[in-house]
Amino acid sequence: MFIDTHCHLDFPEFNQDRDQVIKRAKDQGIDYIINIGSSIEGSKRSVELSREYDNIYATIGIHPHEADNFNNEDEIILRELAKKDKVAAIGEIGLDYFKNYSKSDNQRKLFVSLIKLAKDFNLPLVIHTREAKEDTLKILKEAMPLKAVVHCFSGDENFLRDCLDLGFLISFTCNITYKKAGNLRDMVKLTPLDKLLLETDAPYLSPEGFRGKRNEPMQVKLLAQELAGIKGIDMEEVGRITTENAIKFFNLR
Ligand SMILES: [Zn+2]
Repeated sequence: MFIDTHCHLDFPEFNQDRDQVIKRAKDQGIDYIINIGSSIEGSKRSVELSREYDNIYATIGIHPHEADNFNNEDEIILRELAKKDKVAAIGEIGLDYFKNYSKSDNQRKLFVSLIKLAKDFNLPLVIHTREAKEDTLKILKEAMPLKAVVHCFSGDENFLRDCLDLGFLISFTCNITYKKAGNLRDMVKLTPLDKLLLETDAPYLSPEGFRGKRNEPMQVKLLAQELAGIKGIDMEEVGRITTENAIKFFNLR
């Protein structure tokens, strides 16, 4: 049993064969898929997918890349969407000072607004953070208590410990399978099993052997295999524990 807790099946990369991709995942033992909203339109499509497919849950959110365009109307739309069935979290939200597609003060403003929204609806957060550790922690600490997962973890040991101290979950993607990702595999070692989630971030970050190709949820099994090797347990155990973590975190029923 496996759950892909973070992918973007609403993206146009899946327009030709979305249904087959979802079916393939199911056939491969991926029991649930959490489709992540990263824009207003994407959040709407995410909720639609969760209506169409029993095994899909949705999150709604606006990626920091989109922060410059965020306005009150968007917030009203998100507040409506947050009431829908099978909306399991707010995200992905956060800060990205690596690409800086939006102004950093707008990113912070958006992040704070959507954390508030999550608290109002008692939903957990899916956090995106890149080259913005300090501000991310500062904003999150001010809003505690919070339930959050740091997605596609790419930080160092200090950041990992700070996140674990706050009680957050840590989610790793298939990029831990890359030959040069020794530092990420070290972070996996340091993360307790009961704090781990699996995600593909599909269509991005295909595992080693598939790089340059579109990623898809069934590849979460290759990630589980890698994780099992690092942790010295079998893959089924990784599946069982991370599934339990995800069901609890996203309150899946
Ligand atoms: Zn993502």
